[in-house]
Amino acid sequence: MYSIDDFTRPKAYLSPMDEYLGKIVRKWADEEVIPYRRQYDEDWEEHRLIGPAFDKLMGELGIQRVLFPEDLGGWGLGHSNYTAGASFRLFEEVARADSAMAVALGVVYWPMLMICCEPHVNRRLCEEFAPMFCDTEKAVFAANAMTEPQGGADIENLDIVKGSTIRTTAVLEGDEWVINGHKLWPTNSGGVANLLGVVCTTKLGSTDPRDFAFIFVPADLPGVTQGGAYQKSGMAADKNGDIWFENVRVPAYYRACGPGDDNKYFREVISFGNMGSIAFVSGAMLNTFEILKNFVGNRYYRGRPLKENDAVAGVLADIVKDIDIIRIIGYQYARMLDRPDCYGARWEEETVAKGRAYKYFACDRAVEDLGKAMNLMEVCGSDRDWDIEKHWRDLKIVQLWMGGKQLCQVETARLFFDCQTL
Ligand SMILES: Cc1cc2nc3c(=O)[nH]c(=O)nc-3n(C[C@H](O)[C@H](O)[C@H](O)COP(=O)(O)OP(=O)(O)OC[C@H]3O[C@@H](n4cnc5c(N)ncnc54)[C@H](O)[C@@H]3O)c2cc1C
Repeated sequence: MYSIDDFTRPKAYLSPMDEYLGKIVRKWADEEVIPYRRQYDEDWEEHRLIGPAFDKLMGELGIQRVLFPEDLGGWGLGHSNYTAGASFRLFEEVARADSAMAVALGVVYWPMLMICCEPHVNRRLCEEFAPMFCDTEKAVFAANAMTEPQGGADIENLDIVKGSTIRTTAVLEGDEWVINGHKLWPTNSGGVANLLGVVCTTKLGSTDPRDFAFIFVPADLPGVTQGGAYQKSGMAADKNGDIWFENVRVPAYYRACGPGDDNKYFREVISFGNMGSIAFVSGAMLNTFEILKNFVGNRYYRGRPLKENDAVAGVLADIVKDIDIIRIIGYQYARMLDRPDCYGARWEEETVAKGRAYKYFACDRAVEDLGKAMNLMEVCGSDRDWDIEKHWRDLKIVQLWMGGKQLCQVETARLFFDCQTL
């Protein structure tokens, strides 16, 4: 019997942790999430059910520690040759159960990439923040606060807009940064995050890369206010809200990499965000295959299982060929991030743009395929009992974030066609 494990992966270069990570997360997903996830939509505000499932995965199983160096209680994944490949498997397995849980976990790693990865490990900040994540059995969350009310895409469009629209300011006063501004939508905001990585400017309107600053801010500091979670169409396990910074003071050394390097290595954060997004799509689509396989094998049309009808089989083939290709692309991109010696640095324009191209390809295919799966399932497609419409709602959101499809198109076209004004 063909199963989700038979979709193609580059077996020649999987991480040594792949099998182990995959097994523990799949068991967690099957026992702790899938039986309950239908109730998550109503749990969007309180996280009464969602919270304990996170505690188990992130705190008890220790998945929130993996990026940190081993001697600080982590698993050393941040400085390994498999940071992206192992993360892809992890995110895929979590997303098979719930892609919002996968993004909430992924964003715990997201700002930490700035300080845990070679060649820019910030040992002092690793020592400062590792205990928060490594010395507890409870889930601890981080957030990556980029988006602002005047627009998120412009902030991510680093090559053209160059940080000039960032309105969250960081001013050095003695040995402290004083931060003021307003962010919205970060994953794990809405009162969840304990540690924030904040995109700031040290000079309003500047296009100088040295003025782009990435500064860590513990969420419980005076002057940090988090609003309540927004109610979205899906992704209830990921809380998003407003964060206000009013004269928030942090030590000067809380800046991740320093002038010029914050801007450079933040592009690596973008690359990982796109890699993670593909993994969320891949995981949710693997579960879509499981659901569909059950449905078309056990529903009958003209006395034959649905799958034995030509027109249905054609649609099923369209869907599974996309899943196979999305998975291959996702693992290939993870490999590209893990092997800068072959593919170029994670922060280079080419690497960032290719990640955007693959991310929007995966999202477009998945959203269309979920529509087709729902057509095949007719009323069951819209019935929450089948969980297909859940993946449809969730993956639509993956398509929207990180600058949306247009930024992906712009950066892809810019790379391949050398566009001068986009
Ligand atoms: C579930 C979820 C999780 C999120 N997590 C995070 C997070 O962790 N951190 C964070 O900071 N933000 C996060 N966001 C916010 C998200 O990244 C932004 O919403 C996104 O970047 C788009 O920004 P915007 O909504 O401000 O749209 P805008 O930037 O205002 O864009 C509006 C429209 O203009 C288009 N556009 C923008 N630039 C161009 C261009 N050059 N050419 C053509 N069209 C263009 C956009 O594609 C879009 O269609 C999250 C959002 C969601 C829904």
